[in-house]
Amino acid sequence: MKNPTAMKAYILDIDGVIYRGSEVIEGSVDAVNRLMDCAEVIFLTNNSTRSRANVAERLSASGIRCAEDDVITAGYAASRYIRERYGASTVYPIGEAGLIDELEAAGHTISEDADFVVVGLDRDFNYEKLRIGHRNIVCGAVFIATNTDPVLPTENGFVPGAGAIVSAIETASGVPPLVIGKPNQPILEIALEHIRVPASECTIVGDCLGTDILAGIRCGMRAALVLSGKETLESVRRSEITPDSVFENLSSLLRRNGAAGDDRC
Ligand SMILES: [Mg+2]
Repeated sequence: MKNPTAMKAYILDIDGVIYRGSEVIEGSVDAVNRLMDCAEVIFLTNNSTRSRANVAERLSASGIRCAEDDVITAGYAASRYIRERYGASTVYPIGEAGLIDELEAAGHTISEDADFVVVGLDRDFNYEKLRIGHRNIVCGAVFIATNTDPVLPTENGFVPGAGAIVSAIETASGVPPLVIGKPNQPILEIALEHIRVPASECTIVGDCLGTDILAGIRCGMRAALVLSGKETLESVRRSEITPDSVFENLSSLLRRNGAAGDDRC
């Protein structure tokens, strides 16, 4: 079996890997910085609540050497997906500031009468937003979901994720969304383009079997699961999605594979 720390690049999930809600997961900052000493590292998150710049600021403030270009969010990927296929467009977003910032940065116009409805986690979601999103979709707008994650791990347990909001809109409209985030191709194509390393030389590290690990399997990357977020040994045992390796957390991934302090990677 290949040593994961000998791979040339790491694609790291954020929620459940580096943070649990507002808390930094113990040892994760040091582990990321050590990985960066020996491999290319980018951060890939389905969470669209923060812009790439804001995620990079948060990681930097936590002690991780990080620039905006090292971060791919599902909000950024959705914004680029629309721009590259359809040009600058009108978009009705159901999401937070990070999603709106990325849509505007890509040249899109925010409108309640739009050609696209883009949905991410929105902690101010309400019936009026559901009504406007539904109206646009039944009038022909393309329904795009940043992700369909059912829950998000926080320091106080799990909270409903973007998938719960996407389901409300899908139920009302009867239209399934095009999903941008992990485990789907659009965000992975952008991640691989950014990292400029073949998938076969990448390891994806995440806390969720159905998104991170499935994404890795689909792309031909190594897939390492950490148990610091969504999954447990029991859920791994029950799942048909099998990671290449399972670690307690990011820190133990480095410890077990010897990246700390040696030059194998
Ligand atoms: Mg996660």
